[in-house]
Amino acid sequence: MIVAIDGPSGAGKSTVAKAVAKELGFSCLDTGAMYRAIAWRALQDGVALDDEPALGAIARTYDIAFGHVEGDPVPRRVFIGDDEVTDAIRTAEIDRAVSPVSAAPAVREALLDQQRRIGNAGDYVVEGRDIGTVVLPDATVKIFLTASPEARATRRWKEYQQKGIDTPYEDVLADVKQRDYQDTHRAAAPLRQADDAQLLDTSEMNFEQSLEAMKKMIVEKVG
Ligand code: C5P
Repeated sequence: MIVAIDGPSGAGKSTVAKAVAKELGFSCLDTGAMYRAIAWRALQDGVALDDEPALGAIARTYDIAFGHVEGDPVPRRVFIGDDEVTDAIRTAEIDRAVSPVSAAPAVREALLDQQRRIGNAGDYVVEGRDIGTVVLPDATVKIFLTASPEARATRRWKEYQQKGIDTPYEDVLADVKQRDYQDTHRAAAPLRQADDAQLLDTSEMNFEQSLEAMKKMIVEKVG
């Protein structure tokens, strides 16, 4: 069974998806991490973010793999080729680089097969932007998880603070809005709610409330 979770950045998708997967005993695929890993490799190699052929070549050349921290059933470690990039892909620099990378059709094409193969390999919670619309349109449950730009920017800003990254809130909010614009206006697989997806707005919810609301939606759908 597949639970597809889509939505804009910072809506809590990753955290809630991983927690739901853990409770259901499902595995979890974070497709955003795959685009982030390609963006990281591109920056390392000095590839211009508008050089689609070079970005596509990276996506076709390197294997992206996920790994576990001992004792944790949810795969949180991310590798591209021989490099572990678990922490390196969660920076403001990658936040900015990933939208142009994910807008490149050659990159999306290279990752699509990989995502379908992994997602169809058993019980999975798959999260991203186009899972319910493009990658796995036959998913049993589809949820579109969102929150206001301000609520999402506040969460991301707090995450940065916890990591000791000193970025002004206004910059984080501008980045969130910029990424929303890029994700919803790109030609290839733009972010949108699938017609048959259920909407979950977490603007006024904390993590536990979001998790409960999502579990309720899944149970109501599959019984
Ligand atoms: O979910 P996360 O914020 O880690 O995703 C990083 C970026 O990857 C998004 O801003 C979006 O541009 C892109 N993405 C995508 N399609 C997906 C998942 C992520 O285009 N299925």
